[in-house]
Amino acid sequence: MTIPRQPENEDLGYSDTPVLNSGYTVHDGTRPQPPVVSAPADAPPSDAVILFDGSTLAGWKNVRDGESCGWKIEDGDMAVVPGVGDVQTEAVFGDCQLHLEFMSPVDVVGKGQGRGNSGVFLMGLYEIQVLDNFDNPTYPDGTVGAIYGQTPPLVNSIREPGVWNSYDILWKAPAFDGDTLVSLAAVTVMLNGVVLHHAKELEGPTQHKVLAQYAPHEAKGPLRLQDHGDLVRFRNIWMREL
Ligand code: MG
Repeated sequence: MTIPRQPENEDLGYSDTPVLNSGYTVHDGTRPQPPVVSAPADAPPSDAVILFDGSTLAGWKNVRDGESCGWKIEDGDMAVVPGVGDVQTEAVFGDCQLHLEFMSPVDVVGKGQGRGNSGVFLMGLYEIQVLDNFDNPTYPDGTVGAIYGQTPPLVNSIREPGVWNSYDILWKAPAFDGDTLVSLAAVTVMLNGVVLHHAKELEGPTQHKVLAQYAPHEAKGPLRLQDHGDLVRFRNIWMREL
């Protein structure tokens, strides 16, 4: 059987087709082409904002006092310095795609919430848990990849201590009209390529032992990483605003 081939001019679009909700026709050739992004196998996409590339902590500051970050670079990794406190980017974002990699110490110390604990706070407020949950049970809404205090991940795809893990996160920021919440935050999270949350809505900013509750905030916020007293490392952190 031969597949009928369109005439060459129709490869570029049609104008005699029905109109979509967008106002364009089906297969409209006048619609803007998607921008080209190069996506090499061993580097961030060409349009990514690089938040940590292994060489500098410029662009990061300490949450406590707004001064210099206070964490350190070790072997090209960004390492928590316990007691220094959380750190955050000067860059702010709303809806975004975030990639980062993290590793728990190979020398296992502690258990439950006290093992390899850190966190990825989207917009500085909403935590996706970082924890060494390799053969280390804790309360489900506090496991690695949990929307902390709200929703456990669908699965636990953590690797053993001393092995790098990757997070790929799609973030939809909440929207406010004045003091009124008009749309909830939602997140899709993949840990090592495995889906932990699929467009899961959040109940509000992260809390410990109490219910989350939304409060109006700016449309954009920083990426914040948690110092929970454990020697967690990060690398290859980049973000694309959507
Ligand atoms: Mg944490």
